Amino acid sequence: DVTFVNPDAPEEEISAAFRPNTKALFGETISNPTLEVLDIEKFARIAHKHGVPLIVDNTFPTPINCRPFEWGADIVVHSTTKYMDGHATSVGGAIVDSGNFDWEAHADKFPGLCTPDESYHGLTYTKAFGKLAYITKATAQLMRDLGSIQSPQNAFLLNLGLETLHLRMPQHCGNAQKVAEYLSKNDKVAWVNYCGLPDNKYYALAQKYMPNGSCGVISFGLKGGREVSIKFMDSLKLAAIVTHVADARTCVLHPASHTHRQLSDEQLLEAGIRPDLIRFSVGIENADDIIADIEQALNA
Ligand SMILES: *Cc1c(COP(=O)(O)O)cnc(C)c1O
Repeated sequence: DVTFVNPDAPEEEISAAFRPNTKALFGETISNPTLEVLDIEKFARIAHKHGVPLIVDNTFPTPINCRPFEWGADIVVHSTTKYMDGHATSVGGAIVDSGNFDWEAHADKFPGLCTPDESYHGLTYTKAFGKLAYITKATAQLMRDLGSIQSPQNAFLLNLGLETLHLRMPQHCGNAQKVAEYLSKNDKVAWVNYCGLPDNKYYALAQKYMPNGSCGVISFGLKGGREVSIKFMDSLKLAAIVTHVADARTCVLHPASHTHRQLSDEQLLEAGIRPDLIRFSVGIENADDIIADIEQALNA
C-alpha cells in the first residue's frame, strides 16, 4: 500500500501524507523517466521526523556521481541492469544499507527486525546483528530463502561493468550536456529537460547533490507532438529504439507509443509523462556522432 507525494511539495505537505502504517519514505535521486531531482536532505529530515528510514533509488547518478548516505539516506538501492552493468548484459539489483537507521527506537513499526523470528530459532535481528540487522535479514531471508540473487555468470558480467563505471559516467554526462545544449538551441524542439542546463528547474539541486555531473539521460519534446516524435525516432540510425536505458550505447524511448502505450494522454499526464516526451539515453560514443544522428533525424 503506497501513498504518493509530489517530491517538490513543501515539508508540511509531505509530512501530512504519512499514515499510521507508513514504514519507509522512498524516492529516486533522479526519477525515471521524468528526471526530477530529489532533495535528499529534505526527504531524510521528513523520514526521520516520522521514525522511518529514507530509501533512495540511486540508479541514474550511480555512486560515482551521488552518495545519498552523505545526505542522510538510510538505505540505497540500485538497478545494476543500467549504468553499473553498462552493456545490457544482465538484469540485477543491489541494496546497500548504511546501518545508520535505529530500528529499535521505533520497534513497534518494525516487528520483523525487532521481535524474535521463530523461523530462525527465535533470534531477534536487531539484538543479534546490531547495525547489520536489516541487511542480514535481506540476505538471510529474502536472498537465500526467496532466491533474489544473480546467477554467477551475471554477477561476473556485472563486475566487469563496475570496473569501468568511473570512466563511463563522466563521458555520459559530458555527452548528455552537449546533446541537451544542442537540442535546446534547435527550433524544431519544443522543450528539453536535463538538470545540467542552467535554466532547468532542478539545476540548483543537481549542483548541490551531483556537482560532477548527474547522468546521461535527458528528455525532450518535438514541436508537432506524438506523431512527429514517432517519425523522428524511426529516422534515427545510431540511437537504438529500446526500452532499456542508461547503457554505453545511445538509446531512445517514446513512452506514449512504447512502455506506456496503454495509457490515454490524460492518464500519461497524471503519471507525469507528457505524450510527446522522448527519453534519450546518451551513450559514450563520440558526441558529434550522436548530435549528427539527431540532426539528420530532425531533418527527416
Ligand atoms: C530500470 C530501473 C529500475 C528497475 O530495475 P530493473 O533492473 O529493470 O528491474 C528501478 N529504478 C530505476 C531508476 C530504473 O531506471
